[in-house]
Amino acid sequence: MSRLPLKLAGEVINPGETRLLSIPAARLYTDTPIDLPVEVIHSRKPGPVLLVCAAIHGDEINGIEICRRIVGKRLLRRLSGTLLIVPIVNMFGFIQQSRYLPDRRDLNRCFPGSPRGPLGSRLANLIHTELLSHCTHVIDLHTGAIHRKNLSQIRGDLDDPAALGMAEAFGAPIFMDAKVRDGSLRAAATELGIPVILYEAGEALRFDEPAIKAGVRGIMSVMRHLGMLPARTDQPPRKLVPVKASRSYWLRAERDGIVISKIKLGQRVKEGQVLAYLASPFGGPEKPLKSRSDGIVIAASQIPLVNEGEALFHIAEFTTLRKASDSVEAFQEQFDDQPEPEAFTQPL
Ligand SMILES: [Zn+2]
Repeated sequence: MSRLPLKLAGEVINPGETRLLSIPAARLYTDTPIDLPVEVIHSRKPGPVLLVCAAIHGDEINGIEICRRIVGKRLLRRLSGTLLIVPIVNMFGFIQQSRYLPDRRDLNRCFPGSPRGPLGSRLANLIHTELLSHCTHVIDLHTGAIHRKNLSQIRGDLDDPAALGMAEAFGAPIFMDAKVRDGSLRAAATELGIPVILYEAGEALRFDEPAIKAGVRGIMSVMRHLGMLPARTDQPPRKLVPVKASRSYWLRAERDGIVISKIKLGQRVKEGQVLAYLASPFGGPEKPLKSRSDGIVIAASQIPLVNEGEALFHIAEFTTLRKASDSVEAFQEQFDDQPEPEAFTQPL
């Protein structure tokens, strides 16, 4: 069955064509044009239209590297359907190494946007009309905020069977059944009936090699699950069983000062266990910060300086804690302490 050309942002992409589109998006104060680069692979074979996007928060750069490695995959020559890759959704934030837009708005709260609103609203509208409306599935890549590192995890509406299928195929150790935030890209996709999952891993402004590797493998696995790529013929790595968290909460600092952390990201902790000591840099007693429950540390502050009330550790609880802990351990065995990859280059 032959496919129709894809019409995107005024361009026509024929079946079998791969194209890097630059969609005119906005201008800097210098009047310099800013484009939204989109890698489009429109195969001859029918199939889903998957959008993979990163850096809607401009300082969350892990996903940019994940996108770069996906674009370089030779296997994409055997793609069925269409793959749209947007490595940098928030170009303004990326240039400034900032989560936000120049007017301090969060682009991920501006959807679905409007063509006549402020910058964030216009960008959201552009992405909504030119990209989201063409998609059947979305993977949105995020990291923790500045100085906060996330254990690799998938967030989404796990009551949606299509999203749950994608989440399971991705193979991150943990699922978080997260509420949809108003104005987010995820909310806009959900409104259009498009299943969407978020991959949250690592921290802002850092490359985290295990998180990147797991992200690349996860996206390829989701594409196999959706029938966009052929099944593996080699021995697949041990399949991770992602475990759903029943609830989660942030443990906050109970005083200002320095933080002496006693735990690692992904560690299983017990109720009452001391996770850190908080102290004055000038001496005096150290105040222990204890976990309020049994659980797993799924995000942790990476800076040992804190003000009272600031979030330090994100603890997830599970009805099957042992299973979750096994899944995290299996994940860490697969992705941590692996040798660094050889330099990645596009085949000539
Ligand atoms: Zn984010």
